Amino acid sequence: MIDLRSDTITKPTEDMRKAAYEAEVGDDVYGEDPSVNRLEEAAAEMLGKEAALFVTSGTQGNQIAILTHCQPGNEIILEADSHIFYYESGAASAFAGVQTRTIKGKRGAMDPEEVMYALRGEDQHYPETGLICLENTHNRAGGAVLPIKNIMKIYNIGKEHHIPVHIDGARLFNAAAALDKPAGELAQYCDTVQVCLSKGLGAPVGSILAGSKEFISSARKWRKRLGGGLRQAGILAAPGLYALTQMQERLSEDHENALFLAGKLSEISGLRIENQVDTNIIVADVKGLNMDSVQFVERLKHEGVLSGTFGHSSVRFVTHYDVSRKEIEKAILAIQRAAG
Ligand SMILES: *Cc1c(COP(=O)(O)O)cnc(C)c1O
Repeated sequence: MIDLRSDTITKPTEDMRKAAYEAEVGDDVYGEDPSVNRLEEAAAEMLGKEAALFVTSGTQGNQIAILTHCQPGNEIILEADSHIFYYESGAASAFAGVQTRTIKGKRGAMDPEEVMYALRGEDQHYPETGLICLENTHNRAGGAVLPIKNIMKIYNIGKEHHIPVHIDGARLFNAAAALDKPAGELAQYCDTVQVCLSKGLGAPVGSILAGSKEFISSARKWRKRLGGGLRQAGILAAPGLYALTQMQERLSEDHENALFLAGKLSEISGLRIENQVDTNIIVADVKGLNMDSVQFVERLKHEGVLSGTFGHSSVRFVTHYDVSRKEIEKAILAIQRAAG
């Protein structure tokens, strides 16, 4: 099987397994796990923040950010197709007790003016705006990279109105690779950022939440409340550190593979590529094949390729470390057969 469902399916490399095996560990709830401490320090520095926290997942990192920044009854502003709104099981309302105010973006980027007009003024009728969330790269926009100017403008609006900005950077390193800029340059325009170690970087488990020292110490308490305080977590942090430091550079290979794949798929009649392929995600519309996405995904599975439904007639393909160019070539033939 060639698995193009997601970059989350990447398995830890031999080096990562070795790092896990050899990891120096301690009780991280006591702050005594040297491998976790090392990972948090390296991540904070890489993201240009004072401090960082190792969390179990991207969802947990985003939710801890909302819980730490907001009070119940606050409103958070986020893009209408953002992961936090679309894919986190309603956690922001279930845990933080905030309501969401969505703004439809262009390729995942909200118009800064619309964000500004959405901020609440002083009035007893209004909830207080507690947080603005951005997503980079934007998953449902097909791995779109947010323009740096867009992030900067929204961050400045937030600063002016004393509203923090959080970046859901599950794939921030993909954005950084696509722009050929260090991740810290993209993360400078936010108060807090969450990055996944377990997607394209290939670590088995975990995400990083980074921000100011004060923010991270409150976030640590929220992590504990949520049951995310782990003990000898160095076993997980050591491969995470390896992923963070050794796996970033190769992300552009995934992007090249995605572009190559998208180019070939666009030649298949009845199949239309919906997104501009900035990074490692391709979204294809299968309407022209007289199938819905469920049918197409099933047919393709019989041809030996796994993909994901992404809407009624949309199918998502994600390139990653565990699929080589040779396998991409095989996948193209399989997709041609499934379409035929
Ligand atoms: C995958 C993803 C998350 C959540 O990460 P998990 O580790 O799966 O909880 C958050 N945001 C975006 C944009 C993602 O793609």
